[in-house]
Amino acid sequence: MTMIKGGIIVTSSGTFTGDIRIKEGKIFKIGRNLSAGEEKVIDAEGRYVLPGGVDVHTHMDLDVGIARAVDDFYTGTVAAACGGTTTIVDHMAFGPKGCPLGHQVEEYHRLADGKAVVDYGFHGVMQHIDENTFSEMEELFQEGITSFKGYLTYDYKLDDAQIYELMRKMKELGGMPAFHAENHDVITFLRKQFVEQGKTQPMYHAKSRPAEMEAEAVARLLKIAHYAGDAPVYIVHLSTESGLQEIREARARGQKNIYVETCPQYLVFDESMYLREDALKYIMSPPLRKETDEKALWEGLARDEIQVVGTDHCPFHYAVEKQKGKDDFTACPNGAPGVEERMRVLYSEGVAKERISLSQFVKVTAENPAKAYGLYPKKGVIQPGADADLILFNPMETEVLTKKNMRSAVDYTLYEGMQVQGRIEKVLLRGNVIVEENEFIGEKGQGEFLVRGKSR
Ligand SMILES: [Zn+2]
Repeated sequence: MTMIKGGIIVTSSGTFTGDIRIKEGKIFKIGRNLSAGEEKVIDAEGRYVLPGGVDVHTHMDLDVGIARAVDDFYTGTVAAACGGTTTIVDHMAFGPKGCPLGHQVEEYHRLADGKAVVDYGFHGVMQHIDENTFSEMEELFQEGITSFKGYLTYDYKLDDAQIYELMRKMKELGGMPAFHAENHDVITFLRKQFVEQGKTQPMYHAKSRPAEMEAEAVARLLKIAHYAGDAPVYIVHLSTESGLQEIREARARGQKNIYVETCPQYLVFDESMYLREDALKYIMSPPLRKETDEKALWEGLARDEIQVVGTDHCPFHYAVEKQKGKDDFTACPNGAPGVEERMRVLYSEGVAKERISLSQFVKVTAENPAKAYGLYPKKGVIQPGADADLILFNPMETEVLTKKNMRSAVDYTLYEGMQVQGRIEKVLLRGNVIVEENEFIGEKGQGEFLVRGKSR
C-alpha cells in the first residue's frame, strides 16, 4: 500500500488538498488527514496530483511504406511515461490490401506485447468494406477494440458511403469512429501541380493542404453523421478555425455526439516554421496553420468545443528519414514526435498562461479521451476504484525542453529550447512509481493491454 500525502488533488470539477490511499494498484480512498499505517508515504505537499495522461493518438512503430516511425512500443512508451502519460491508444498502420480487420490487430499485439511500459489499447483501422468487415468488427469489439479509424485521404481512404456505414455500425455497437478529415482529391491535385511547377520547398506542403480542404471534409463528416441519426463522430487532429466553425454550426443546429481533438503543435506553431532551415521537422498532416487558427483552437478548448488534446506522435529522425524530403516535400515522411511533450507544453502554454483552467487541462488530457474511448472510469480520473495512475507535478519550477533530456528514440523535439512552467517529479502507473525526476524506473513490458468498453 502507498499513501500520497498532502497533495493538491486536481479533478475536472476543482482542486482540494488531501491524501490518496492506494491499494492493489487502485485508488482506495481519498480524504483529509488519512492516518498512515504501514504503507509507504509519498509527500506531495505543494504539488499538484494530476490524473495520468491519456494520449489517444499515437503511432508507435508505424510503417508508412517509405519509412517506419522510430519509436517502437518500448521507447515510445518510456517517452510517454516520462512526459506524464500513463495510457495510450495507438492508431495502427494500414495492412496489406484487402486484409481482414483483425490482421493489423494481431500485428500490433505482437509489436506491443512485452515492450509497452504504460497501459495501451489500439484503434482498429477500416481500409475497405467487404462482406465480412462488420462481423469482424463485432468480434474485435468483444476483444476490447471499440473504436475504428477511417481516413478521408491517403491510399486506403474511405468513400462517403463507407463513412456512412462505419458510423452506423459504431452507433449500433456503442463504439467510436475516428476520422482524419482532409479532402483527398483537391490535395492530390495541388501536390501534383506544385511538383510539376518545381514548387517543392517545405512551405508547399502547407499550401497543398489548404484550411478549406479540412473544413470541407469536417463538414461532410458532420452531415453524414447527422443523416446517420446523430451517429458519433470523432475528428482527430483538428487544425483550423474554419473546421472548428463547421463544428460550431453543426452543434448550433442541435447535432449531438460530435467529438473533437487537436494537438499541441497546432496550438503553439504556425506555418512560418516551414520557412526555417529545419522545416522538415514540422512536416506533418494536417500542416501547421496560421496564428488565427492557433487562437481559435485555444478558444475552442477554453469553451469546451474541443474535447481532447492528443499528439499524433509519429517520429522520424531529422537526420535520416526526414531528409528524404530535402528536395521535394512530397517525399518527406509525415509526422513528428509529441508524446513526451504534450502534458508539459499544454500545462505551460495553456494553464500557466491562463488560456485554459486546470480543470480543463485534466479534462482534455485525461478524462475526456478516457470517456470517448471506453476507458472511463478505470482511467482518466482521480476517484476511488480508478487505477492509481498519477502525476506529481510541481507548478512552481520551470524547465527547458531539450532533446538531450528526452527519452524518445528520435533525434529532435519540436519544442527545443522552450522554457516551460512546471515540472513532472513522479509518475505512478497502477500505484507503482515508474518515473522519478525524469528517470524511467519501471520495467519493460509492464504495460497492460486495455480491453476497452463502450464510449460515454
Ligand atoms: Zn495520426
